Amino acid sequence: MRYVSTRGDTPACGFEDALLAGLAPDGGLFLPEAWPTLSAGEIKALGGKSYPELAAVLMMPYLNGEIGEDVFAELVAEAYRDFEGEAVAPLVELEPGLWLLELFHGPTLAFKDIALQVLGRLFDHVLSKRGERVTIVGATSGDTGSAAIEACRDRAALTVFILHPQGRISEIQRRQMTTVGSENIHNIAIDGTFDDCQALVKALFADGAFRTEIRLAAINSINWVRVMAQCVYYFSAGLALGAPEREVVFSVPTGNFGDVYAGHVARHMGLPIRRLLVATNRNDILARFFESGVYRKSTVEPSLSPSMDIQVASNFERFLFELLGRNGAAAAALMADFLERGEFALDARRMAEAQALYRGFRVDDAATLATIAAVARESGRVVDPHSATGIAAAKSLREGDEPVVCLATAHPAKFPDAVEQATGERPVLPARLADLMTRPEWCSALPNELGALRDHIRSAARAGQGLREGVA
Ligand SMILES: *Cc1c(COP(=O)(O)O)cnc(C)c1O
Repeated sequence: MRYVSTRGDTPACGFEDALLAGLAPDGGLFLPEAWPTLSAGEIKALGGKSYPELAAVLMMPYLNGEIGEDVFAELVAEAYRDFEGEAVAPLVELEPGLWLLELFHGPTLAFKDIALQVLGRLFDHVLSKRGERVTIVGATSGDTGSAAIEACRDRAALTVFILHPQGRISEIQRRQMTTVGSENIHNIAIDGTFDDCQALVKALFADGAFRTEIRLAAINSINWVRVMAQCVYYFSAGLALGAPEREVVFSVPTGNFGDVYAGHVARHMGLPIRRLLVATNRNDILARFFESGVYRKSTVEPSLSPSMDIQVASNFERFLFELLGRNGAAAAALMADFLERGEFALDARRMAEAQALYRGFRVDDAATLATIAAVARESGRVVDPHSATGIAAAKSLREGDEPVVCLATAHPAKFPDAVEQATGERPVLPARLADLMTRPEWCSALPNELGALRDHIRSAARAGQGLREGVA
């Protein structure tokens, strides 16, 4: 299984190279050359496997024979060892035929742990095998930073710097990052906004000499491994509800289109998925696209589901490439249009194909709160604002009594203010995080200046293990 770029201008490469590169050299995203498919009989035979066993079997064909089966199975088992409960991704019934797939039982209480725990270990494994090390630098507005830190802590081949906007993320989000006392983890609070943090990271990557000097790498939402790891829970839910005999609808809270695209991949692999519901908050570029066929950028506005406050869905390019018959030049032309004019449109034939599988749905803050309140009242379950958008979409778009699985992407205690506003009760952190608010923090504060950031990373990376900063 080799990997090609969505912009068609990169020679096919192996799994490890796609993993380490993240983004393809032509600016596109990596996708497998062909989809590994399972027959109905093969899907049936997956029933009864534990989540880690299922994950290892489903991901194995993507490794291009570059990592041994036993090594990979052990790596995956370890990735899910720290999840609360055996199931990893438990499925619970909200009301007849409407299910909640809980993806928030990992170390940072959001679904990103499911992929990043695998990605961090794969990075470390492949680099150690090659005798290499990298420096990972990323910016976060919340969930991704903590998930990346938890995934990379104590891994010998990785040094990690995560930038966050000082005073602009919640205390829980900050503490999930700054209380990780590993010597390879460096938190940096930037005196600026999230956009400033992202601009700094982009500028670092654009500096070729610096990039080579410290072997800069990214663990971001476009890495193929994230999609590959996420398609597993579509299978676990589908199998629990009767696949391959029974078709299921999934409703997915969406930002970068990574999670919902993983469902698309599961369908390519043979899982019977009837439809994918693309739930957005007020930042509704994707909901608008699936209604109108026009992909048009607008400004990002803050919402109660901040991890979905995105107007350019990076993983969307993978879907587009496929919709265009895997024509990389055509995908590149549309992306160039989008960069230049902030929009592009697809023809009716292509949109009919897209709409056969996908439905978009926009949920504003008021409807999000109303959904959290209604779910609590009717089922006694408390859901977070991201998960609530998916549930709202499912309730509106469900046809007849077809089974719908709503992906629950974060633990309610991660977003206590919105949940309290909706239900009148403040959700409590799970016991293993109960002391989060009193743990010591490690973080450096820096001005919004590229030079200062570069110097800081250079000296910390050179000091290697052992350099840690005091409490912010
Ligand atoms: C990242 C995130 C999302 C959006 O996922 P995408 O793959 O970017 O679509 C939804 N909910 C939560 C809690 C998240 O952290």
